[in-house]
Amino acid sequence: MSGEPQADCLFCKIVAGEIPATVVRKTERTIAIRDINPQAPTHVLVMPRAHYPNAPELAAAEPLVAAELLTEAAEVAAEEGIADYRLILNVGAGAGQTVFHVHVHVLGGKPLREGMV
Ligand code: AMP
Ligand code: ZN
Repeated sequence: MSGEPQADCLFCKIVAGEIPATVVRKTERTIAIRDINPQAPTHVLVMPRAHYPNAPELAAAEPLVAAELLTEAAEVAAEEGIADYRLILNVGAGAGQTVFHVHVHVLGGKPLREGMV
């Protein structure tokens, strides 16, 4: 069924507590963890507990949870004390997606380069 845990998914294992991660926030529907290879002083990944491969598929199936990823990203930024931050959602390997369980990157804490890439 859509949203069910996938046995071969790294982030489903983190959600289940089978692989350790530094969890910074949790809700009933989402968790936020520190990226293992941070690209900025704050680099947090906000994801749904349910498994969807990417943001459009999550938004189509569970729009309220898709919106909650954004409100949770804002809560992470507020807790980290950063007013300006960048949210990134990679969709597809060609765009740099390596983990196919949707997650929003929250990046900040230093001046970020202008531009999209
Ligand atoms: P993406 O390239 O958008 O799929 O992002 C995947 C992100 O997951 C990368 O920034 C990785 O550094 C991060 N990552 C991979 N494994 C782990 C892990 N075990 N714990 C936390 N972050 C991870
Ligand atoms: Zn998953």
